[in-house]
Amino acid sequence: MMGMMMHRPLLIGSILDFAAEQHPRAEIVSVRTEGDVHRQTYRETAARVAQLAHGLETHGVRLGDRVATLAWNGYRHFELYYAIAGLGAVCHTINPRLSAEQLIYIVNHARDSLLFVDLTFVPLLERVRDHLPRDLRYVVMTDRAHVPANSLDALCYEDFLDGHATTFDWPEFDENTASGLCYTSGTTGNPKGALYSHRSTVLHALKVALVMGASLGEGKKVLPVVPLFHVNAWGLPYTAPLVGMGMVMPGPALDGPSVFRLMDAEGVFSAWGVPTVWQGLLAEIKAQGRLPRGFGDVIVGGSAAPRAMIETFEKMGVNVNHAWGMTEMSPIGTHGAMPTWVREKPFDQMINYKARQGRRAFGVELKIVDDSGARVPHDGKSMGELYVRGNTIVAGYYENDAATAKVIDKDGWFGTGDIATIDADGFLSIQDRSKDLIKSGGEWISSIDLENVAVAHPAIASAAAIAMPHPKWDERPVLVAVAAGADRPSLEEIHAHMSEHFAKWQLPDDVIWVDALPLTATGKISKLTLRQQFEGYKLPDLR
Ligand code: AMP
Repeated sequence: MMGMMMHRPLLIGSILDFAAEQHPRAEIVSVRTEGDVHRQTYRETAARVAQLAHGLETHGVRLGDRVATLAWNGYRHFELYYAIAGLGAVCHTINPRLSAEQLIYIVNHARDSLLFVDLTFVPLLERVRDHLPRDLRYVVMTDRAHVPANSLDALCYEDFLDGHATTFDWPEFDENTASGLCYTSGTTGNPKGALYSHRSTVLHALKVALVMGASLGEGKKVLPVVPLFHVNAWGLPYTAPLVGMGMVMPGPALDGPSVFRLMDAEGVFSAWGVPTVWQGLLAEIKAQGRLPRGFGDVIVGGSAAPRAMIETFEKMGVNVNHAWGMTEMSPIGTHGAMPTWVREKPFDQMINYKARQGRRAFGVELKIVDDSGARVPHDGKSMGELYVRGNTIVAGYYENDAATAKVIDKDGWFGTGDIATIDADGFLSIQDRSKDLIKSGGEWISSIDLENVAVAHPAIASAAAIAMPHPKWDERPVLVAVAAGADRPSLEEIHAHMSEHFAKWQLPDDVIWVDALPLTATGKISKLTLRQQFEGYKLPDLR
């Protein structure tokens, strides 16, 4: 017997409609590429989104078309999210930090018809345009006065809106219609496209509202440092309007002092981003000797948040939520909201729990399998590849069957490529990316664990542990480190600091000091680049 309830499609547009009606005063505050700060409410935003949709329609955008963006976090980027998806077209966000070669590949692979670009990235497109589709039209995201001289024959964003009605008769379509496209840049091979749907996006927005509840709140402000060009800024452009939270969009300047200044001026309550960004903010907090006004919460994800970072924030009274996810998961998989029994533990133990990758969100199933594909127990010790399943996880890659076949198992689970353990209470602990684990004498060493403990040394600002080839042990760990100040502790001193947490054979064989660690397009430490950089390096006992 079937239930007798109405079926209404879950469509993204309903979120902004709801916010315009129920949270009309909440604002989107944006640092613009033009250099000033701009403010508009969700109600004003909804009106502009309608105008933009008319503009898109006039320029021939139809159901299923791909429309690309190459832009920072700002209100116009937000408007594109809603106007494109509202028409049933696909908002393809491009990461400007990709190599030119990757950018060319994905624009051609997605067959975008229009490309909206921030002022900053016009020169970048001018350099590659000969390799992009001839009929691709460009739109610069600014007003007419600011459109620069360019060789793209570009249109102007504000002209797209000008003169159009501030209401739109939005079409209704199947909730499984594609809404967004984001390519993930694997370290090898071409980028692969995660194609989100209206249904998955609305469910994800609800999921985030549930698990990040303590970070959200009507009338408060949230700062997505996590970019709108990568994994939908962790779903915030959907969840924030849903709960009536104002958004503070930082634009291009993401260094510690700029982020501090913006947070302080706007009274941001919760800030979301990768660990590298918070390192910069913490340095500025230290320099100023105070927190930005109103700051009380931070969400860290994208790579492992070092324990020392979590501890520093928490000691200052800033709640840390350490989350894990992937582009292919919309992206939230697990969250770091602690259950009561953990919050009641002594501070140090509570921080130990926060340093793990949290517990699964409802609707995300997790399993860990060994090399033969058999499940291993959730006992906090058994390690294997993490597989996931759920209604906000990709079923495959956009027009890429070969890549899909590599990640989806026979039961329909998605293989994350992360090596993990799960304990009996459901806490996930990511040990490594499978390719970053260090295998010494047949035993595994987690590079994440080594880095975590290394950066707790006051003289080390950031560090990466990588495997170096060794004829006897196969691989040995080496620490590549950036000093916090003038002091460069010796290997023996670093060993003394780390030995409480590791067996002797797990300690790094060498420490290499560098000025900075190379980052990937998504702000993570690029182990691939490091391995290339130190090709030919010889371990001390082989010299
Ligand atoms: P992306 O698709 O670019 O968001 O990258 C996803 C990958 O980032 C995951 O598969 C993990 O390897 C890594 N990652 C994300 N969050 C965390 C975290 N909290 N701790 C450790 N690794 C993480």
